[in-house]
Order: sequence, then structure tokens, then C-alpha cells
Amino acid sequence: MRIVQVTAEFAPIAKAGGMGEVVVGLTRELSRLGHDVDVILPKYDSIDLKKLSKVDLEVPDFKCGENGNLHANAMWSANVEGCRLHLLEVRHSSGYFHRGKIYGFEDDTRRFIYFCRAVMEYLSLKKEKIDILHLHDWHTALCAVLAREIFHLPIKGILITLHNVEYQGRCATWDLDAIGLNGKKLLAADKMQDDDPEYPKAINLLKGGLVYSDGINAVSNSYAKEILTSHAGFHLEKTLKRVKGKLTGIINGIDQTLWNPANDPHLAAHYSASDSLNEICDAKQKLRKALSNRFGLDPNRRPWIGGITRLVPQKGPELIEFAIQKTPSLGGTFILLGSSPNPKIQTQFESLKKHNAANRNIFLHFEYDEALAHEIYGALDFLLIPSHFEPCGLTQLIGMRYGVIPIARATGGLKDTIFDGENGLLFLEPTPKALNETLARAFDLFHNKASTFASLMMSGMKTDCSWKNPAQQYLRLYEKLALGDAVAI
Ligand code: ADP
Repeated sequence: MRIVQVTAEFAPIAKAGGMGEVVVGLTRELSRLGHDVDVILPKYDSIDLKKLSKVDLEVPDFKCGENGNLHANAMWSANVEGCRLHLLEVRHSSGYFHRGKIYGFEDDTRRFIYFCRAVMEYLSLKKEKIDILHLHDWHTALCAVLAREIFHLPIKGILITLHNVEYQGRCATWDLDAIGLNGKKLLAADKMQDDDPEYPKAINLLKGGLVYSDGINAVSNSYAKEILTSHAGFHLEKTLKRVKGKLTGIINGIDQTLWNPANDPHLAAHYSASDSLNEICDAKQKLRKALSNRFGLDPNRRPWIGGITRLVPQKGPELIEFAIQKTPSLGGTFILLGSSPNPKIQTQFESLKKHNAANRNIFLHFEYDEALAHEIYGALDFLLIPSHFEPCGLTQLIGMRYGVIPIARATGGLKDTIFDGENGLLFLEPTPKALNETLARAFDLFHNKASTFASLMMSGMKTDCSWKNPAQQYLRLYEKLALGDAVAI
């Protein structure tokens, strides 16, 4: 099939969270199966060009209108991680993609609205037949609207994947007028009017993707159901119920080339599920020693429990804080690698760090550090994921592959991939009480039930979290969409 994916993230060159990893993992598997897949993303100035090969100036100059002015763009093609990329260089006076990072700017909606229009201009220049245009989250949702309202390209089916419905891209009608859409006409309950009653005059970009795409998939079956409720729908539940006939769920895989403890270049010792338990434990102890030497920890104050996460309300920062304080009192060590775009949460964690500066059983590090993340996965015994909602979650999948037992709240994709007492520990209520009980179970397992602890660890390591099955499900969905069939399962 001829598949074009449009995305704001692509790991490892442009990654802010799980979405970038999903796009690379799926693309690599589809390409491996012989499908013709192109990925289009902005040419951010933060991309390390050394990681790309076969870089070529594909289209030196094409124009895209915004507010009556024509702006220059170029399209670069390149290969990375076995995938074919098209990097859109936006030569706009606002330096839309020259900001040193991917998101977090006041004009984020305007940046990605422009990106969508420029992508559609590029596709219309190419005039190629496309089986599936595959969009990801709100940043690229507008491509579906543009494809059906303005461009009318030979695209058989449009799919939008929902990685996180909390982020929707809210803007004004004139932001759509600016790129040639009719904002007033689209401000309608059955089109792009925001479903949040507080913002009746706002346009919702993600909603446009839901309404105009032929298929919608959430990144797990449980999340596909949960977004139909106010708990996880963030006001879009009304629209999602209306378009339920085209909604389905497909769990994410992880890219097992990027995440492989058998040859991970960031690890000082290697291991895999086919090694003996002793060999695995020895290697993990070496990794703990390496981190301990660097950060002044004690490799023997165990279990080592940790979190590798964005610190946002979704991820249960108050429960993470609870576990940070509780773990040392139970005799373990807590390690957190995370940072927050939310200044209040960040300040709270900074002060927690200050308060515990002398504690050798707590290590808090607030940075996005890919290499350190690999090392921490290698060293941990348990991974804490106390999310209030979790579309899929990749950290539990990565953790399991690295022999880390997840302790997670039973929600969304966590519930679909972790089975209590088989490959992890689950708790139902997002409360300190429930977490406390589960931490007690984890310590009991570690200290008193060595064979059960080992069996949970090994069964996690042996769980197939690859893209093989999910890619087959995407292909079946693509085929249905290309034929114009209903998709709900
Ligand atoms: P989300 O996409 O909601 O952030 P996921 O669990 O789906 O959560 O994916 C998170 C990804 O980002 C994982 O690969 C995780 O290892 C990585 N990650 C999160 N925080 C950090 C950090 N501070 N440094 C390095 N990697 C991080």
C-alpha cells in the first residue's frame, strides 16, 4: 500500500514523548513488510542532521499562503532508522520551526495550521495516488479538513490516530481563514466548533480530524472506550460518540531495535530474555553500580523503584511524590527522570529535590535525557506509572523488556498490557492508599517471594511488545479504509 504519514514527532530525531516512537516503530515495520511509506514532518532546527542519510533537496521552493501572503518552503528527503522522511523546511518570517524545541509556544496552533496547509500544497504538487493518509493527534488533524474541503487529492482513505485526546489545538475562526478555509462555516457543532461549553466561539483542530477522517483509532482498546466518557474525553466525548462507527483501538508496540537490552549502546552490561536469571541479575546489578558511582546512590538499597515520565497531571505527579517519600522509608531507592512543562509542578519537584539533597536513596533528575533513560530502565527493579489516564503508555512496555516490573494504575493501555500478578502489579484507585498497598506488595514480592518476583520479571521480558501484531492490525484497518468500509470493531 502507498501510505503517507504526517506527524509532529519522529524518534529519535524529533521526540517529545511516546508519539515519535510510535511513528518510527510502525513505519519501520510497514516498510519491512514491503509497503511504500513516507513520513512528513517539520524540519525543526533542533534535528541533528548527522543522524540522517541520503539527504536531498527534493522540492527547492514551493509556496504556501497565510493571511494573504505567500511564504516560501522547501521539502527535503532523507533516510533515518530505515524510514523515508520528508522534512518540510518552512521559511516563514515567524521562524515557526526554528525555536530549538518542538512544542510549548504561544502560537503552536498557528505553527501547525501552517504546517498542515504546506503539507497539502506539497502533496498536491506531487499528484501521487495515496492509499492512506495517516495523521497523528491535533497537530496534523487539519490535513483531513484541507484534503476534503480544498485539495480533493486522490487519497482513498484518511486515518487519524489519537495518542492523547487531552491536547486538542484550540484556535479562532480567523486562524482557519488565514490559510484559506472558511472559519465561520466550520464553526458548527457537527464540524469544528469546540465542544467545551466555555469556548463556543473556538475552533477545535482535533475535532476537525475526527469529523473529516474516514477512520479514527485510539492507541489501545481500553482508551478507545474511555474517551467516550467525560473522564478521558476532555469534552470531545460527545463528538466521539457521534463518530463511534469509525472508532477503533490498536495497541502500540515498541521499536525493539531502539529498545534492546541485548545490545543497547547506552548500557555498560547487556542481557536478554534468553539469558539465565543469574546472568540477567548480574548485568542489572552492574548497571546499578554504574549509576550509583555517578550519582552517589547505594546499589544495595533495594528494590530500586523509578519513573521516567513527563510530570503533568495525567501522570499522577502527586502519587509519584508520595512514592518518592515512601520508598526510602521501606528500605528501597527511588529514581525519577522527568521534567514538566507546568511551572507549578516543576517547582514542587525542585523543592522536593532540595529537601532530599542529602538522601542517598532518592535521585531526582529533571531533564529530557535519552541516554540516561536507557541506563535507568536497565537498572530498575520496578517502574511506577500511577497515571490518571494513559492512552497506551510506552514506558511499561520498555520497562518490561528491560526486566523492570511495572507498578501501574489500571487504566487505558496500562490495563491492556499489564496483568496483575503475571507481568506486573496494578492498582485501581488513583489514591495514596491504593498505591501504598501496592508498594507494600512490591516490597513483599522482592524480599519474601523471590521466585514470583523472578517469574513476573521474566514474563515481562518475554512479552511480545513488538510492532508485528499492531502493524498487521493497522494494515487491516488501512485496507478497510481504502475500500471505504466501516471500521469499528
Ligand atoms: P507520553 O507519550 O504520554 O509522554 P509514553 O509512556 O507513551 O508517555 O512515552 C514516553 C516516552 O518518553 C518513553 O520513551 C520514555 O522513556 C520517554 N521519556 C519520558 N520522559 C523522559 C525524560 N525525562 N528523559 C528521557 N526520556 C523520557
